[in-house]
Amino acid sequence: MTPDPRRQVPRTDAVLADPQVAARASRLGRELVRSAVQVAQQRVRAGELAPDDVVPAVLAALPGTASSLSPVLNATGVLVHTNLGRAPWSTAAVEAVVAASGTTDVELDLGTGRRGPRGEGALGALLEAVPAAEAALVVNNCAAALALVATALGGELVIARGELVEIGDGFRIPDLLVSTGARLREVGTTNRASVADYTAALGPDTGAVLKVHPSNFVVRGFTRSVEVAELAPALAGTGVPLVADVGSGLLRPHPLLPDEPDLQTTLAAGADLVMCSGDKLLGGPQAGIVLGRADLVQRLRRHPLYRALRVDKTTLAALEATLRGPVPPVRQMLDADPAQLHARATAVAAALRAGGVEADAVEATARVGGGGAPEFPLPSAAVALDVRFAEPLRAATPPVVGYVEGGRTLLDVRSLQPAQDAELTRVVLEVARRWT
Ligand SMILES: *Cc1c(COP(=O)(O)O)cnc(C)c1O
Repeated sequence: MTPDPRRQVPRTDAVLADPQVAARASRLGRELVRSAVQVAQQRVRAGELAPDDVVPAVLAALPGTASSLSPVLNATGVLVHTNLGRAPWSTAAVEAVVAASGTTDVELDLGTGRRGPRGEGALGALLEAVPAAEAALVVNNCAAALALVATALGGELVIARGELVEIGDGFRIPDLLVSTGARLREVGTTNRASVADYTAALGPDTGAVLKVHPSNFVVRGFTRSVEVAELAPALAGTGVPLVADVGSGLLRPHPLLPDEPDLQTTLAAGADLVMCSGDKLLGGPQAGIVLGRADLVQRLRRHPLYRALRVDKTTLAALEATLRGPVPPVRQMLDADPAQLHARATAVAAALRAGGVEADAVEATARVGGGGAPEFPLPSAAVALDVRFAEPLRAATPPVVGYVEGGRTLLDVRSLQPAQDAELTRVVLEVARRWT
C-alpha cells in the first residue's frame, strides 16, 4: 500500500534547511519564508501538493523582495500616475539612493569632522537648475510645503476663489491651509479675479498672498486670473510675500505644455517663493521643493514644524541625482517623438502577432497626469488587444496596467520606457499562452 502523502508533510526545519530556501530566508527574513512553508505544508495536507514539491512551491511563492510593493508596467498613457507611484526614477537616482542608504555624510562635513548643512548637494543642484532662486528647502511633498508656508507665514492668506483647488482623492488645498490655523481671505469670484481684488484684501494680518496653479482643471469663457507678473508689482512695498504653488515641478517652460507654470519663470516674474512636487514632471522622488527669497526660506527652515516635514537622506540623494544626472524617464516620455512611439507600438504588435496574438498598433492620446496639464493631450501610440486581456494583464508578473477604450484593451507606449517594450511583449504572450 502506498503511504498517504498527507502523512508525509515535510517538517518546517527540514524545508528551511534547504540551501535555496535558506538563501531566500537570509534575503527576505525568516518569518516571510516560514509562512510560505506553512502554506505549502497545508497544501500537502489537503492533497493538493506532493511532499517532494514543497521546496519548489515555497520558492515560487516567495516575492522578489521583502516589500509587498512590486514593479508594474505603466501602459495607461498617464505619464505621472499617482496610483502607480508617480515618476519612475532614473538609474542615476536609484544608484544614488543605494549609495546613500547606509551611513552617509548627509549632515557631516568630512573635512572638518563637524556637523555640516543637511542635504547641501541637493539644495545646490536646485539652485543651479533655477538660477532665479536665492535659497532652497526640501520637505516631504508639496502639501507639506503648503502646510509649512501657511504655518510659518500664517495669519491671513489671500487667495483667489478660483484657486481653491481639490487635487485628488479628497485632498483640498483650502482645507489643508485652514488646518494649520491660518485664515483664508478669499478674493474674486469662481471665474474672475483682478489685481484690485487682491490689494483691497491686504490688511495688518495678511501673512502672504498665495497663488495656486489649478493643475487639474480649466475654467473657460468669461474668465480672468491674475498672473504673478501683474501681482508682484502691486505687492511691492507692502511687505507681503507672494507665494506660488506651481505643482507640476517644471524647472523651465516646456513647449508642449504652454499653460504649465515653471519655477524659473515664476520666480523671475516676481514671486517671493515658489513650490512644487518632486515626483511629477521633475521626474524624481516624492518631495516638496520650496525656492525663492533667502530670508523667507530661512524663516521656514527655522520653524519648528520644518523638523517634522524634512526629508531623509535617500530623498536628498535621489533628488540631487535626478537634477544632475541624465534626463529622467518622465522627461524622456514627455519629449518622445510621436513617430518613434508609433514605431515602438508597431514593433510590439508585430512581435505579438508573430506569437499568435491578435494585435494592432493604433493612435492614442496620452496625458501628463498627477494633476498636471489637463488640457494637453499628448499624441501617442498604443498596442490594441482583445478587451479580455485587461484583467489577466493586471494579474500577470509583472502586472501590466493599460486601459479599455472602444471595446479593446489599449497599451500606450508613451508611459513605458523603450527598454520595457520587450518585457511588455513577453508578458502579453505569456498571458495569451495560459489562455489557450
Ligand atoms: C500635485 C499638487 C499638489 C500636491 O502635491 P504633493 O507633492 O502630492 O503633496 C499641490 N499643489 C498643486 C498645484 C499640485 O498640482
